Amino acid sequence: MSLDLRMPELNFALAAVRVAAEVAERLAARTDVKGIEKSDLSPVTVADYACQALVAKKLVETFPAVVLVGEEDAGDLRAEASGETLSLVTDIVREFEGGASRENVCDWIDVGNGEPGDRFWTLDPIDGTKGYLRKEQYAIALALIEGGEVSLGVLGCPNLGRDCTLDADAKGVLVAAVRGEGCWRTALKDGDGMDRVRVSTCADSSSARMLRSVEAGHTNVDQIGQLSELLGSLAEPVCLDSQAKYAVLSAGGGELLVRLLSPSKPDYREKIWDQAAGSIVLEEAGGRVTDLAGRPLDFGQGRSLARNRGVCASNGILHDALLEAIGKLS
Ligand code: AMP
Ligand code: MG
Repeated sequence: MSLDLRMPELNFALAAVRVAAEVAERLAARTDVKGIEKSDLSPVTVADYACQALVAKKLVETFPAVVLVGEEDAGDLRAEASGETLSLVTDIVREFEGGASRENVCDWIDVGNGEPGDRFWTLDPIDGTKGYLRKEQYAIALALIEGGEVSLGVLGCPNLGRDCTLDADAKGVLVAAVRGEGCWRTALKDGDGMDRVRVSTCADSSSARMLRSVEAGHTNVDQIGQLSELLGSLAEPVCLDSQAKYAVLSAGGGELLVRLLSPSKPDYREKIWDQAAGSIVLEEAGGRVTDLAGRPLDFGQGRSLARNRGVCASNGILHDALLEAIGKLS
């Protein structure tokens, strides 16, 4: 058994994430591509823009009536006086789409300004931009949302091993899930068939391995320490950027993943593109994802998970123990 690659949405998503990963890796090998501050002060790179442009262009070509909700938009690119970033983005896009003009590139990026409705795609072209800039973990995350629920998700993780581990010789992995059809992985380059991904069967909370963000500002580090004590003095958490955490957890490289609310942004609401692909991948691998109060993630509330607070994810078996410990946090 495997996923049915004839399913047009799955076929598209696998191909699109592969192309985006190729763009990201080509740019990562160059020294002239650095982080730029967006008008909301979060970091973005030429790769974020180029990946969104290419995925969006392929999406509208394949499914003309489609709605895409992407993390990026071309506003800052169009407004930049020097036009330097747009030139770099257009150059790399042209390596894949020969005739692309600057205007085409901006228009393709802005396909991602769709309104979330009953059926739409969501894209994080480079999830974990900070990890990408550090040459550590990042992911290309693409998902389809239908009726407020994720129905398909693909994660491309160029800096993980083929088996979703933190392998020093990482050649990259593509992890895909379709609701009810399981979670599967294949090599990022030159797909070599798909094999099933399953969570760890660890049922002992005191030997659980926890995954967390590298960025301390995306979680609450003191409370992570408390959780570790409440669950039985866990080993130091493994710090990883991006939804690569979900890929690792799905394949049994850990048991617990929490996104606690940071003291500086206690009202933060998760963005849908930061959780959609990762959550279906984990659920279809046998894991569980809720918010910190145990509520299911509701992807029908616009661009953010407005009805949820933080994220609690696990191998399933340890989920209730983790929620109980979260309930005791001070
Ligand atoms: P990670 O690599 O797991 O730390 O997640 C990266 C994502 O965290 C980025 O794509 C941001 O959208 C998101 N993010 C930004 N600020 C916060 C925050 N204060 N709390 C939680 N997540 C955040
Ligand atoms: Mg992101």
